[in-house]
Amino acid sequence: MTMEAIKTGIDAEAAIPMPPGGALFGLGLPELTVVMAGLGQKPYRARQVFDALYKQRVASLDEVTTLPIALREQMQAAGWQIGLPEMVQTAKSVDGTERYLMRMADGETVETVWMPDGDGGERGDGSEAAVEESNDRVDAAEAVTGQLNKIDKRNWGALAEQGFRRATICISSQVGCAVNCQFCLTAKLGIRRNLTAGEIAGQVAAVLNRHGVKMGKDRINLVFMGMGEPFLNYSSFMQSVRVLVEGIGVPESRMTVSTSGILPGIEAFAKETVRPKLALSLNASNDVVRERIMPITRKWNIGKLLEAVKAIPLRTREWVTFEYVLLGGVNDQPEHAREVLALLRGMAAKVNLIVWNPGPGIDYHQPEPADVAVFQKMLMAGGIPTYIRRPRGRDIYAACGQLKRTVAEESPKLVVIGAAVL
Ligand code: SF4
Repeated sequence: MTMEAIKTGIDAEAAIPMPPGGALFGLGLPELTVVMAGLGQKPYRARQVFDALYKQRVASLDEVTTLPIALREQMQAAGWQIGLPEMVQTAKSVDGTERYLMRMADGETVETVWMPDGDGGERGDGSEAAVEESNDRVDAAEAVTGQLNKIDKRNWGALAEQGFRRATICISSQVGCAVNCQFCLTAKLGIRRNLTAGEIAGQVAAVLNRHGVKMGKDRINLVFMGMGEPFLNYSSFMQSVRVLVEGIGVPESRMTVSTSGILPGIEAFAKETVRPKLALSLNASNDVVRERIMPITRKWNIGKLLEAVKAIPLRTREWVTFEYVLLGGVNDQPEHAREVLALLRGMAAKVNLIVWNPGPGIDYHQPEPADVAVFQKMLMAGGIPTYIRRPRGRDIYAACGQLKRTVAEESPKLVVIGAAVL
C-alpha cells in the first residue's frame, strides 16, 4: 500500500486495518465512563482508572489498587487490559540517545527514541522548550560528521549518564509509512497498519516509566516524528494528543507534529483547539525537486501546502517550523536557499536544517559542511531564523529518517542494553 493509501488524505485511515480492542490505555474519561458503566460501575470508578492509567502509569490491572479486587477480576474476565506497548529491545548511542523497539499486542513493532537534552529541534519556535534550547549550538561540520564542534564542548554521552535536565521523546504513529519519501528508511517498510491512540501515547508512558520521569518536575518534549505520517492516522493521533495533555500531563506547547504535507490533515489541524506545534517537512525549494524526493508533492504541491499552513491560527509567539533535509547536490545549493526564502517570506516561520542521515540502500549523499553553512547563512540573512539540528543517535540508526525496526543482528555495532526477545 503506497500512494493508494493516501489518495483520500486523512480518510486513508479507514483503509488501513486497526488491531482488535480491549486496551484501556488511550481511552479518555468519557470513554472510560462508558466502559465502567457497562460493568455496572459509577462514574467515579472511571476517574480512578483514568488516574491509574495516566498519572500512575500502571502496567497491569493488578496495579490499579484503587479498584476492588473483584472489579479488577471482572474487568480482566471481560477482556480489558492496560495495553501498553512492550519495550522488547533497547539500543544506546554513544551520545546517550536510546532507541526502543516497541511491540504491540498483535506482535507489530515500531521504534521510539529518547534523546536526553534533546536535539535542538525546538530552538526558535517561540515555545518554553525553545528557551531551554536557546544556548544549544550546532555547526555545519558537527551536523555532517557527528563529531562535537568547537563551540560545544559538552560530552553528550557523559551528560546522559548523569541523568537528564530535559529530554525529547520521538514517537511513531504508524507501523511503516505509505508516503515513500525517497531519502527515508521507514519508507522502505511500506505501510502495515495505523497505531491506535493508546499505542501512540503508550510509547510515551513506557519510556517515561523506564526513566522514572516525574511529570511536572522533569521537562519532557514530544515530537511526532518517528515512523509514519501522523496526518494519515489523524483521529488516533489527535486522541493520543488529548490523552497526553489531559492524562499524562505534557503541555501541548511541548509537542511538535511533523507532516510530509497531507493537505486535509493540515486543514483539520488548523481547527483544533488543543494541538501540538506544527512542523512541515519541506525538503525542497520547488515542486520539481520535491516531486523527485517526496512523490506526495504530485498530490499536494508546495503552494497548496503553504496556503493551508498560513491559514492556521497561531498562538502567541508560536512559529511554524519548516524541516529541510539537506541532500548533497540535490537541494543544498544557494539557488535553493534563495527559493526557500521566497517561499517563506512574510511567514512566522523558522527553518530546521537536517543533514541527511545515511542509510543502507538509499542512494543520496550527505551535503558538504561548507554548503550547509552557506545555506544557513543565506536564510538567516534573508530574515528566517535557521537552525541546524543536532544529529542524535546516528550510530544506532535512531536519527531522523533512519527508523526501520533495525534489530541487533543487522547492525553489529549496536550496543543493545535491553532484552532482545524477537
Ligand atoms: S520521512 Fe516521514 S512521511 Fe516520509 S516516508 Fe519517512 S516516515 Fe514517512
